[in-house]
Amino acid sequence: MAVREIVHAFLTADRPDDVYQFALDRVSPLVGATFACVYLIDEGSELMRLVAVHNWPQRWATFLGHMRVRLAHGPSGEAASERRMIEVLDLESDPALEDWREVAEELGFRSLVALPLQTPQAVVGTVTFYFASPNAVSAETRHLMRTVADQMAATAEKSRLLEQMREANAALTASNAALERQYHDIVEAKRIKDEFLANISHELRTPLTAVVGYISLMQEGFAGPMNPEQQHTLEQVKDASDQLLALIGDLLELTALKRGATAAIVAEFDPRDALRDAIAMAKGRRDDVSLEIAQPEIVPMMRSDRRTVSKVLKAILDNAFKFTRQGAVRASVQIVGDRVTYAVEDTGIGIPEASHETVFEEFRQVDGKLTRAFGGSGLGLALARRLAQQVQGRITLASVPGVGSTFKLEMPLRYGGEN
Ligand code: ADP
Repeated sequence: MAVREIVHAFLTADRPDDVYQFALDRVSPLVGATFACVYLIDEGSELMRLVAVHNWPQRWATFLGHMRVRLAHGPSGEAASERRMIEVLDLESDPALEDWREVAEELGFRSLVALPLQTPQAVVGTVTFYFASPNAVSAETRHLMRTVADQMAATAEKSRLLEQMREANAALTASNAALERQYHDIVEAKRIKDEFLANISHELRTPLTAVVGYISLMQEGFAGPMNPEQQHTLEQVKDASDQLLALIGDLLELTALKRGATAAIVAEFDPRDALRDAIAMAKGRRDDVSLEIAQPEIVPMMRSDRRTVSKVLKAILDNAFKFTRQGAVRASVQIVGDRVTYAVEDTGIGIPEASHETVFEEFRQVDGKLTRAFGGSGLGLALARRLAQQVQGRITLASVPGVGSTFKLEMPLRYGGEN
């Protein structure tokens, strides 16, 4: 019954000291102890301090808070350092305890039992029961005291773990707060970057458009006649300027999409037409690479933003052509129920698993080295993903390096319907 009550206290008490006190008060009368106390080792020291007492003689009470027991000294100190129960049957007849006799007489005990409080990891202290008469303890009593000692040790362990958990929680809360601050900083930095990109793109586009205009004028001979070599050089200047203009256009479109400043322009069209448009616009296919197209003979009409769909497909096709040196690029469209799936499959260099997500982030490329073998800005897929979202679609990627990649655009047949 007493053990059950102690276990209950162990489970419900907030403070471990309450459990020690309760256990001492409950058990001491049962085992016939005149008084009893619990000592706990001060972490990192050789000393134990009193944390609970039962029936301690009043005259000595004022010293309680200052009392320390040195490990390995006296029965209580030995019980802890030797990790075993120490029993003094009769102080009067034990010559080794001569020094203690006076104290024992003052306090009024003749025998005692000191039990170590042991957890699986360590000894945390001692519980000692003091008896007025010699040879006061029966086997049954000893058993009960052991059980109580074990329970107290478990209490100490529980409170140590709780304390650790509290500390870990506090550390976690602090690092969470730091993370949150960092997150806000990143969001703010991203916003500033987007704003900067949008502004600078506008600023770049205006003079660049003028440059392209002047080039066209020169090509048409408005600035005087040009020899073939000059014509050829000017052609290259024009190509480079057009590329730059296209890049700036992409940047502006991406920042506009991010701001939510553009809306889908929805109309009815044949889903195969969007693929056809994309194929017509896509560039860079090598002679060693064949283009295969698979599409059904009859398809339902689609209701979505045709220009957006074909822009997404063009970006994917451009990449397929760019990263495939030989073999084939297969483009297909498939309609199942109310969903359309466009797929572009290539036999190119492939994309390692670790980059399957990052390739969709702006300015990210698998091979980010300055000396990379393939040109490009790293904007194509970022823009494609945003555009796909605008038509309620989603791009997925499956790829094996050295074998090839398959990009799919999956979207509703009818924009605005159930997704
Ligand atoms: P980029 O202008 O560099 O092509 P994208 O955003 O279109 O930018 O693509 C990002 C990166 O994803 C590419 O640089 C390339 O590393 C990888 N990638 C995209 N498509 C393919 C593909 N079909 N095969 C292999 N790698 C690809």
